[in-house]
Amino acid sequence: MFTVDARSELAVPTETRLNSQFHEQKLVEQFCRQTQLLKLVEGSSGRFVANYRKSQRPEDLLAPIQLRLDFEYRQLLEKSPKLLQHIVEEPLQFEQAVRYCVYGLVRSHLKAASLKPVDINQLHAHWRLVGLPYTPGLQFESQDQSLRLGLAQVQGILAAFTPQETLVLQSIWYCGSGCMRNAIQTSSTDAPLCSGCSRPMSEYQKLRITETFRLLAILPSSAVQTPRTTGCLHRPKLIRLRAHAYDCELKLGSSYLITGYFAGSASTYQLEACHLKST
Ligand SMILES: [Zn+2]
Repeated sequence: MFTVDARSELAVPTETRLNSQFHEQKLVEQFCRQTQLLKLVEGSSGRFVANYRKSQRPEDLLAPIQLRLDFEYRQLLEKSPKLLQHIVEEPLQFEQAVRYCVYGLVRSHLKAASLKPVDINQLHAHWRLVGLPYTPGLQFESQDQSLRLGLAQVQGILAAFTPQETLVLQSIWYCGSGCMRNAIQTSSTDAPLCSGCSRPMSEYQKLRITETFRLLAILPSSAVQTPRTTGCLHRPKLIRLRAHAYDCELKLGSSYLITGYFAGSASTYQLEACHLKST
């Protein structure tokens, strides 16, 4: 089993942290090699190679490599409890470890196919932690007025959700003035300026990749179990749910268990889901 460890890492010197990031990347790679994940990575870079060989268009070398990696709780417990501990304590660092590990695997696959390495911004490796059971120590309870740093869980009733919104993951640009330069942008759709002639670039519209997301409002189950309690205000927890993070249907009034983490950027201070399942 794994334990929830809330110990502070503030005292750890930077050098040790860098080492541990490298160590974690190795743990992710080891786990990928022991499970079906390596095949998924190779399948995605294989499709990239096949697509380019077929079209021979240079812009296809800037195409995205998109994949979803499910880290199964049971497999983690059995094969790499240490990695599971990392995910629980440092999900953001784990996300970086996944990114760099997958990038390394893709690079060597492309090298074997005699292609140049892609830009890391072309890689979109979405991870999920699947099958994590309800874990009391991870529950985010707003009455504590404190956020757990690391992985957190919210269980409750879906009270509302927003319409689907679109997130741009990657857009690809070219210079129309004959410079033959290309650029990749992640997240923005504003035309970048050409690094050669400083003119605004044009987009390959068909190569833009996006993902949808919704914001969910989750009420604690107790809000529904004792609806007539007075003098008590139930505040929903807001969660951002991207399309890759769930497979089931979203129904108002149904109960869900969400695993996620606080990404804590200035604009989005809500829990980012890395998996949602109905309970
Ligand atoms: Zn130009």
